[in-house]
Amino acid sequence: MTEKEYGSYQCPRCGQPTTCVRNTMSFDNHITRRRVCLTCGETHETIEMRVDSMSVLNFANRITREAEAEAARASGVCA
Ligand SMILES: [Zn+2]
Repeated sequence: MTEKEYGSYQCPRCGQPTTCVRNTMSFDNHITRRRVCLTCGETHETIEMRVDSMSVLNFANRITREAEAEAARASGVCA
């Protein structure tokens, strides 16, 4: 785990940070995001677990900030 993923999510296929979120589904224990890469067209899903532990505050901070960034990105790039 590095801090690198915090900034821009990179496509698992071509490695470019050009993915955007097409759809987000929230469940009780996790969040599923459907992403599409604007470079190679790869579509895939990422799953973020909601954790219930002592580190929940850090994790919630991260998720909140990431969600805000992705909401802005999704509305702008991928309309
Ligand atoms: Zn790609």
